[in-house]
Amino acid sequence: MREATGMDDAKGLEELDCDSVAVRLWDFVDGELPPREMAQVDAHLEDCERCFPVYRFRKAFQEFLRCQEKSEVPVGLRRAVFERILEEHREMDQDESPSLWERLRDATRRDRD
Ligand SMILES: [Zn+2]
Repeated sequence: MREATGMDDAKGLEELDCDSVAVRLWDFVDGELPPREMAQVDAHLEDCERCFPVYRFRKAFQEFLRCQEKSEVPVGLRRAVFERILEEHREMDQDESPSLWERLRDATRRDRD
């Protein structure tokens, strides 16, 4: 802690670019970044139209995972599945469609029958 500037002064934060945000996004969603980086990512998401939808989607997915905690699929694998779906989805269309959620649900639901 170098200087206590107060919470309303974010000027000391250097801006992150989209790639830097992308690599921190899971930890951000999990709340596992150091407070300074949380603030940096948060500031970036506020104005970046490209990163915000990804964040929002990951956040929703994180909540989706919490609802599925009884599932035996490891979190790492579920994330990998999610990343792959997101990748495919990005190639097809930028919109978040209900069918994406259906695919996500199917991909993480292994013990139904
Ligand atoms: Zn961005």
